[in-house]
Amino acid sequence: MTFDNARGPSTPGGPPRTQPDVSATPSVVQSLRTHSSTSVPFSVEFNPPRDAANEARLWRAVRQFERMHPAFVSMTYGAGGSTRDRTVRVTGELAQQTTLLPVAHLTAVEHSLSELRSLVGSYADSGIRNILVLRGDPPGDPLGEWQQHPEGVAYAEELVRIVRDLGDFHVGVASFPQGHHRSPDLDSDTAYLAAKLRAGAEYSITQMFFDVEHYLRLRDRIAEFDPIEGAKPIIPELMPITSLRTVARAEELCGRALPATVLERLNNAAGDDPDANHAAVREVGIEIATEMAQRLIDEGAPCLHFITLNFAKATTEVLTNLGYGVTAAPISA
Ligand SMILES: Cc1cc2nc3c(=O)[nH]c(=O)nc-3n(C[C@H](O)[C@H](O)[C@H](O)COP(=O)(O)OP(=O)(O)OC[C@H]3O[C@@H](n4cnc5c(N)ncnc54)[C@H](O)[C@@H]3O)c2cc1C
Repeated sequence: MTFDNARGPSTPGGPPRTQPDVSATPSVVQSLRTHSSTSVPFSVEFNPPRDAANEARLWRAVRQFERMHPAFVSMTYGAGGSTRDRTVRVTGELAQQTTLLPVAHLTAVEHSLSELRSLVGSYADSGIRNILVLRGDPPGDPLGEWQQHPEGVAYAEELVRIVRDLGDFHVGVASFPQGHHRSPDLDSDTAYLAAKLRAGAEYSITQMFFDVEHYLRLRDRIAEFDPIEGAKPIIPELMPITSLRTVARAEELCGRALPATVLERLNNAAGDDPDANHAAVREVGIEIATEMAQRLIDEGAPCLHFITLNFAKATTEVLTNLGYGVTAAPISA
């Protein structure tokens, strides 16, 4: 099965399907160029809503960010059938009902090749042209044993090739400032990243980190290993910490402990009573994210990609601290 902009998925013997003309949809890299005329662009990551209340919260954040003109917005992709259906629907709505440029995450977990192709077809049908291709983590325990689907793919690199072969898609991949937790060492981690980029990915988005040096070392490693692939944008991912609970979530998501200096600042703000000192912890978390973002701007990062957990407020505060022109409307979420 192949897709192209004009016809959509072509099924043998079936009539051509009409689908949105995505030829005018920019790629992430094009959008970064357009958005970088006055300042370093920013972008945000959303998560698929779990229920109706969560979906309403997501849309409040979406509308808030829409007024701030991010270069793109990405939607993660998780395990679980009903969430997956909702993910595809909501990501499509971002393409069709907003002015935002959506990037759909696509993971190989628990999917056969034909399911993966069909998912890409669903995204294409709703006008999505940008896909972040990932292997994904085992459902339940992200650090658990990875099981390849018997008719699926083993590594993101293969999926990059498959998506590129399916049609006019623009593909990004994941990169890991401290190396992926399953990589035996940083050299092989760098080689696998270069292979994904060589397979046709146009940029990477990093795992979140809390020490900018790790991002800079990743950039140096890949540039030295393969100057051509190393010149592709490496978009740093930031997560503003808003509570000690977010610290635990951040450590779970990146599979690494936060740097001691960062933990010390947050713990000092929390004192003996983290609940009573919630506002102080949050303030320090926003301060840390602002300092990191400023350093990344100074170091020439191509974009700042924020994990939002479907809330707009923390990211907006960081951007305001950095002097980005932000909406006149009150921030409600
Ligand atoms: C920005 C970002 C967004 C993410 N979004 C999601 C999401 O929406 N949903 C989700 O489930 N997860 C998401 N993840 C998590 C990601 O899926 C996991 O970290 C996963 O374990 C690795 O994915 P990958 O695409 O880097 O895999 P791969 O590139 O396939 O790498 C997986 C492991 O195999 C190694 N490897 C790669 N190629 C080879 C090879 N040819 N031979 C031997 N070893 C190899 C790598 O070094 C690595 O250790 C995201 C991660 C990031 C950084």
